[in-house]
Formats: sequence, structure tokens, C-alpha cells
Amino acid sequence: MQVFKFGGASVKDAAAIKNLAEIVRQYQEDELLIVVSAMGKMTNALEQLTTAYINQTAEVQTIFAGIRAYHDQILTELFDPSHPIFDEVENTFVEIEWMIEEEPHDDPNFIYDQIVSIGELVSSRIVTAYLNQTGIKSKWLDVRGYIQTDNTYREGLVDWQKTSESIKESIPSFLQKEKVVTQGFIGGTSENFTTTLGREGSDYTAAIFASCLNAASVTIWKDVAGVFNADPKRFQNIIKFDQLSYPEAVEMAYYGASIIHPKTIQPLQNAGIPLFVKPFLTPQDNGTVILGEELPVKVPVIIVKTNQVLVSVSSKNHSFITENHLSEIYKILAELHFKVNLMQNSALSFSFCVDFESGKFEQLMQKLKQDFNFKYNTGTDLITVRHYEISLLRELSAGKTILLEQLSRNTAQILIKAEN
Ligand code: ASP
Ligand code: MG
Repeated sequence: MQVFKFGGASVKDAAAIKNLAEIVRQYQEDELLIVVSAMGKMTNALEQLTTAYINQTAEVQTIFAGIRAYHDQILTELFDPSHPIFDEVENTFVEIEWMIEEEPHDDPNFIYDQIVSIGELVSSRIVTAYLNQTGIKSKWLDVRGYIQTDNTYREGLVDWQKTSESIKESIPSFLQKEKVVTQGFIGGTSENFTTTLGREGSDYTAAIFASCLNAASVTIWKDVAGVFNADPKRFQNIIKFDQLSYPEAVEMAYYGASIIHPKTIQPLQNAGIPLFVKPFLTPQDNGTVILGEELPVKVPVIIVKTNQVLVSVSSKNHSFITENHLSEIYKILAELHFKVNLMQNSALSFSFCVDFESGKFEQLMQKLKQDFNFKYNTGTDLITVRHYEISLLRELSAGKTILLEQLSRNTAQILIKAEN
């Protein structure tokens, strides 16, 4: 069997869903499990809805109406008005409608997962209904009964034992009869609450299913031709990799290449399952395959992470920053689930750079300010270059304000002020 993952861009409108069905049709005879993301930019819209609801602002209803209208447009283009999918989608939305009429629950991360997960629940229903309508027999699967997580909302930790058991128990027999379509990015707790696995988590979902079912391969269908040595939307004169090793792909994902979710590779690497990244607009192209342990990379790889914040902490009584301070700082970062993208320390201060996430950042500031002086710079971009050459670094930072720079043998990182 194979696993296909279709991201937001590949299901962003009616034409995209028709294209998806044409791709799947080429695999009529194969056992296929299809993981889908929320349509287009719907996860961002649902995040906005969550924030508006938590802050009880007036925009709640407008944002919600916008989300419904977006899906309605797609439904109207794909189905006859009497098709049951209209009610199915409506019923899914009613669940958040009820929620947002109530006072917000006190855990914002819990609220986030209950609301944001709707994007995948709806898109997977629409895709299943459309495949069936075009003669590709498909079953909608509620992933929350299979991918079991703890209750770390917004970053559910997968219970591999339980997940693997339930996947192995029933999915193979479903796949013998029809295509299986399910949601990326979400999971369920033992109390039947919905969790999410972290932004861009649908790739990870595909890897979980593939590893539990010992799939022949995973294919991630994208709006780019494969994996490049730099973001095609940002740089020119770039090259596409035909093949990348698992370790190189892990490093790229770790430094923020948005092509693959960082947790995706490990389960595939352990099972030796190839990961294809292919363009959904020209599905016959080879794309990139991620496979193997060692494959030298002969070109520099550039990864830009935007929306970074540089934080500098120092002790309030001007004492040295010691290992005890560092462990205290790290403990706070871990508790708040921050991932440090770059760090540097001097005698009197410790600087680090993390993704700027409003809400979470204020919590971090509040905690660190209890024991430290706290300074920060938002609006910064982190450029990481693997297999770098100094001349390229100079070119990338020319005319920019460099806030921090760090070079190791293989990897260079430069934190610059973002241009507005
Ligand atoms: N829809 C989710 C997101 O945009 C998950 C995914 O697409 O992988 O983050
Ligand atoms: Mg994605």
C-alpha cells in the first residue's frame, strides 16, 4: 500500500480537488491511504477565529462566516445542491458554532485544537465525497480514533503503541475494499478530545500511517517540483534535488525548510520507507525522493525562517550567566514548548532566537522577567546555510543588519533584521 498526502494548496479550490481526483484515478488498482490538510489557508483563518473567540472580540462572527463561505463556494462548484455533503459539512461547523457561543474554556491550547481541527475534518469529507462522486470508491476515516495522543494540546504527543495497534487492526481490511481518506494534523486523546500535532503536521500523519502499515512509499503532493536547495518562491538560480538522504532532509526540516514537517522523517527512516515529494500539477514528474543514509550534497542549502525574535537575558545583579542560569532558562523554554533556533552566550548575557508566537511569547517574557533582565528584538529573519561558502554568506547578508552570526564546519546561521 501507499500513502499520499495532499497539503492545503492541493485542495485549495474546486479545480484543485478535481486535479487531486485525477491523480488518485491513476492509482485505481492500488491500495491507497490519503491524508489531507485543511483547504488553502483555512488553518490560518481558523487560528484567527480562535484568537478572536478567546479575546471575545467582535470579529468572531465575520471570520467564521468567511470560513463557511469559502467552503460553500467549493461545495457549490463540485456538487449538486441535494448532495448529502452539504449537511455533513454543516454539521461539522455546528460543533464550533456551539462552542463559540459559550464562554471560552480556560486553556487556550485546548480551544485551539477543538476549533482549528475543523479545517481537516471538513476538507477530508469534501475530498471523500468528491472521489466517490467521480467513481473512485472511498471511505472517510476519523483519524481521532486511530492516532492516539496525550493531552498536550497544540502539540499532541503520539502514543505509538496504541496508535499502531488500532491502525494495524482495521485499516488493512478497509484498504482492500476502497481508498481511505483521513485528516492530517489531528489526533485524539483517550477521553475523546481532539488534539493537533503542531503546524504543518499532516506530513507527520502520513509518516505515522506509513510506518504502522509498512507502506511501500509516502508521496507528498506539492505546488513545487520537489525539494530545492532554496525556497523557489524566494530565490532564483536554484536546483532541485533528485534524491536526498534522510539525515540531510532532517537537518533541512530542523532549520525550518517548510517543505517537510521535522518529525516526518524519523519513522520513515526507521522503516526504510521512501518519501517522494512531487508536483501535483505535473504528477508524472519524478520530483525528489528522500531515501538512504548517505548522499553527499554538493550545493549549499539555504533555509530562511521568518518572524523570529531574538531574546537576551542577563542576571539582575550583573553576575555571570552560569550553568545554573542556563538550566533555569531552558527549563522555562521547555515548559512553554519553545524550540531554540540559535543561541549564544557571553559572560553576562545569554541570547537565543525562537519563533515569535504572540501569546506564548508574552508568557515567556513574564516568566523570565521574574529572575532576569529581559531584552528582545522582533521582526528578524534567521538564514541558515548548510554546506556554505563565505562568499554566499556575504551575498545573502549584503546591505542587511546582522544581529547575530554563527558558523560551524558545515552550517552557518545569520540572524538579520527583516525588511518591511
Ligand atoms: N493544516 C495544517 C497547517 O496548515 C496542517 C498541515 O497542513 O500540515 O498547519
Ligand atoms: Mg504543509
